[in-house]
Amino acid sequence: MNVILFGPPGAGKGTQAVFIVDNYGIPQVSTGDLLRAAIKEQLPLGLKAKSIMDAGGLVPDDVVMGIVEERLAQSDCTSGFVLDGFPRTIAQADALNQLLTKMGKRIDCVVSLEIANSEIVQRISGRRTCSACGKGYHIRNAPPQREGVCDACGGSLRQRDDDSEAAVQNRLSVYDEQTSPLKEYYRSIGILKVVDGSAAILDIQKQIGDILEGCKCDHP
Ligand code: AMP
Repeated sequence: MNVILFGPPGAGKGTQAVFIVDNYGIPQVSTGDLLRAAIKEQLPLGLKAKSIMDAGGLVPDDVVMGIVEERLAQSDCTSGFVLDGFPRTIAQADALNQLLTKMGKRIDCVVSLEIANSEIVQRISGRRTCSACGKGYHIRNAPPQREGVCDACGGSLRQRDDDSEAAVQNRLSVYDEQTSPLKEYYRSIGILKVVDGSAAILDIQKQIGDILEGCKCDHP
């Protein structure tokens, strides 16, 4: 099953992707994570992407397509994947279609997490990530046992560079202008499923579970 988790920054795509990975045994392919890994490893494409990401802009489509193509060719993606944070432009969606057609695959379902901008800013400002293992926390909704310290590995928690208020505002405008038109793109081909992203995490998981079960029946 090939799924796109769609929604603005802070809608909970990362959290729900973990649920899908755990329950459906397919890997999460997050372009944001792949780009952050490239920065950490100081790869040329990471260095090119860093300043754009810190300002909340979009990394060029050709750079993103290169990393997606490489990732989807890996063996763990053979029986499916959940795309998180990709595609983000119509050009990326077209390029994804072409890539999947070449691979003899297609997207089965697009789950769109919908949430108001005011709630997004509140959520993102409390977000923290372990600098060692990448585990995510929220200072109010999912705090660590010891402030600033990862429960899983003891690493120190930090705020992402692009979670500053200015960068978040920019990411939201970029989403409204360049990414949200993709909803119509996928609605028009009948594979868009809308979920209330402001509901409780377990309710959202239940809704996503129901959608994916239906999707498995449609595309066994
Ligand atoms: P995310 O972790 O999905 O919030 O992505 C963090 C940042 O990485 C974004 O604000 C962009 O700068 C960059 N990025 C991630 N995915 C894409 C994409 N599909 N296209 C362009 N830029 C991306």
